[in-house]
Amino acid sequence: MQLENKVIVITGAAQGLGAAMASRLGVKSCKVILIDINLDKLQSQKLELSKRGIEADCFSCDISDESKVSELFEQLIEQYNQIDALINNAGIIRDSFLNKPNANGGFDSLSLNQWQSVIDVNLTGVFLCTREASKHMIATKTKGVIINISSISRAGNIGQSNYSAAKAGVVALTVTWAKELARAGIRVGAIAPGFIATEMTQQIKPAILKQVAASVPLGRMGDADEIAHGVEFILENDYFSGRVLEIDGGLRI
Ligand code: NAP
Repeated sequence: MQLENKVIVITGAAQGLGAAMASRLGVKSCKVILIDINLDKLQSQKLELSKRGIEADCFSCDISDESKVSELFEQLIEQYNQIDALINNAGIIRDSFLNKPNANGGFDSLSLNQWQSVIDVNLTGVFLCTREASKHMIATKTKGVIINISSISRAGNIGQSNYSAAKAGVVALTVTWAKELARAGIRVGAIAPGFIATEMTQQIKPAILKQVAASVPLGRMGDADEIAHGVEFILENDYFSGRVLEIDGGLRI
């Protein structure tokens, strides 16, 4: 896909990886549309981008809410009449061991709420946004691209039952949709980042983060723009579909 004049929708774009994607793609003459749950953060991100000459449009939406996602895509289609790419980037972590014995002789367990909230955003949100975006792509015969952001944790990571399950699910969806949507000329790819310096990884205890960085063969955490570079590659490479691009500095967990 040539990026010039394309309309690219990025979820979770108010900060972190999504913001880096908007920044990299925005200088390539695309129209970048930022989606996030928090409108204030989105507005400040829009301002940051405009200081660098990138004009982005912002829409707040909880991507785990079916009716809000339907309304959002109706609005986008009405306003732009074109969606060339969707980057399913929004995600959350709610880490906990499945069952960790505590000092009271009981357990600190992963709650259903922790489980469900991560599945809702990281898996169901990806499904809802892709269903709406691909409907429009098929109807308008747009040879679009969907990119799902998975994670190195898809292989199974301690303390991340919910997150690992969702991120593995996202890879299964990538392969399934690549097969289903190929007949419409739509490509679907995924990226599995390792540990990247963003607000999300700032939630991890500094001592653990230091250990993690030291365990990466390349000896450091990744930079958000290195993931955005992967997004750019998948968008531009017309033979990439149904696969996961691993950008993790060589780390295996
Ligand atoms: P981040 O800094 O936390 O940014 C994620 C953005 O998504 C936040 O602005 C967040 O808003 C928003 N969001 C959360 N729930 C949402 C919802 N229901 N609807 C719409 N937006 C919502 O995370 P990041 O590090 O940039 O990560 C981006 C993606 O990469 C995620 O899918 C993450 O799982 C994945 N990933 C990240 C890393 C890493 O090392 N950073 C590694 C592997 C994979 P709030 O802040 O208000 O919740």
